Amino acid sequence: MLAAFAMPHMRSNSVSGQVSPAGMNENIKGIHVRDFDVVIAGGGTAGVMAAVASARQGAKTALVESKGYPGGTVVEGGTALHSYFNLWKAFPGVEKRQVVRGLAQEIIDRLLVVGGTTGHADTTTRINYDDVCTAIDTELYKLKAFEMLSEAGVFICVNTLVAGAVLKGSKLEGVIVQSRLGRELFKARCFVDCTAYGDLSAYSGAEFIELNDHPVCNSMGIANVQIGKLYEFLKTNHAAGDIALDLRTGREGQIIRMGMEGTGSGNTLPPGFIDGIRQLGSGLITTTVHDNYLMFIKVNYKMDISPTNRDEVAKAELIIRQNQYKTLELFKQYLPGCENAFIARTSPSLNIRRGRTIICDYDITSEDVLEGRHFNDDIMVYGFHDEAPRLQIKNGGTYGIPYKALVVKNIENLLAAGMLITTNHSAHMSTRNTVCCMGQGQAAGTAAALCASKKCGARELNYSDLRKNLVNDGVYLEG
Ligand SMILES: Cc1cc2nc3c(=O)[nH]c(=O)nc-3n(C[C@H](O)[C@H](O)[C@H](O)COP(=O)(O)OP(=O)(O)OC[C@H]3O[C@@H](n4cnc5c(N)ncnc54)[C@H](O)[C@@H]3O)c2cc1C
Repeated sequence: MLAAFAMPHMRSNSVSGQVSPAGMNENIKGIHVRDFDVVIAGGGTAGVMAAVASARQGAKTALVESKGYPGGTVVEGGTALHSYFNLWKAFPGVEKRQVVRGLAQEIIDRLLVVGGTTGHADTTTRINYDDVCTAIDTELYKLKAFEMLSEAGVFICVNTLVAGAVLKGSKLEGVIVQSRLGRELFKARCFVDCTAYGDLSAYSGAEFIELNDHPVCNSMGIANVQIGKLYEFLKTNHAAGDIALDLRTGREGQIIRMGMEGTGSGNTLPPGFIDGIRQLGSGLITTTVHDNYLMFIKVNYKMDISPTNRDEVAKAELIIRQNQYKTLELFKQYLPGCENAFIARTSPSLNIRRGRTIICDYDITSEDVLEGRHFNDDIMVYGFHDEAPRLQIKNGGTYGIPYKALVVKNIENLLAAGMLITTNHSAHMSTRNTVCCMGQGQAAGTAAALCASKKCGARELNYSDLRKNLVNDGVYLEG
């Protein structure tokens, strides 16, 4: 089916037939059926925005999330939300612009009211990279996301797994979900896959590839840390980087982002610390909105095969948890301010930087991103790149995410949003970032609701209707 993508470390979909692998040979006769206009699979970074956008359009919308709360990787993996702004610092004379707005900004506004974010803070120590860091309190983010979904009237199914799909020809008829109520079939006119792993698309027989081009990770919160003492030690040892100052515990001008450049050259950190951190694959850039707390300390682990392999994932989950405690021990032993630190939070399961990549009608290329290309069906614009300053968008501008990049190939009524689009590694290093995923989610949810109300397939949707609705809902577009 996907012979053209036969490359090492890639696995193509071999699913055939009308029902997904999970549902294969399953007798769905007599299964309890619920009817919706739109079903969103996965209530993470993109899925929350998709569900809110769809429900606010008036569509009867269900959100199916396997964990007990919404949020996904934005509350479990990322150090901060990157980025609402263009990368302007490296380009003298270029104006700083907030290029992602809409629902992605609305949740920050809600978090600001309850002390759940630092707001948009500029980093002060690097002149040309990572210009704006928006850090969040992970627990308040979950709560505010939940409230937004509830207020919008979304039928919220947490602790519910998308387990299969039922198709009629190339049309997705329904999603098989599994909860303690048993198995149910959620029918809808249009569906959005926001599962990060692309479960719904894969179960629907869509083409995908698995590049396995990133380590997996579990990101922990370390508490009981004296941030000021730690910062002074790092500064003395020429190891403090990525500093951003903003609101922390309600006070302005506090350190809210700090990089320990333990693996870089030129610092005088103890060799035992540096060697240990290197061996464990621990990432040392963290953010916080609270005193005494490092919100995200990442422990990375490179799996030999894709993180869709259950048995290999089980091994990785154990190794990473062991390495988290080894990392904590290094902190306590070598870093002043961390003597009495403890692990206050871990992610419930390992975080992926990419699982399956779903083949859509258009695949955003590295040139599209770096040249700042726009399309005649842009649904958002974006200006951040994770590999800046090595890779940046031309002249500190933006590129467009076209609607066709969200339309799952060969399926009539399935959209995809989030880290699961974009096969090219360096293009993905831009499109996978949280704020880009949120924007894609809003657009996909809006489009799905419009398709449902107009009773059309994803490809028949009138772009000017979509654009008008997105702009009305605060999305920033150029041109
Ligand atoms: C370690 C790490 C660090 C990162 N650092 C940053 C950073 O500093 N800044 C930044 O901007 N970005 C960062 N990123 C990238 C960014 O966080 C992610 O790419 C983005 O959050 C992905 O959003 P998503 O909506 O695609 O997936 P997710 O937010 O992961 O959402 C997927 C949701 O689907 C649910 N789900 C999955 N399968 C099923 C199923 N079968 N049934 C029901 N529900 C299901 C999951 O539980 C989850 O809630 C980082 C990523 C990782 C992994």
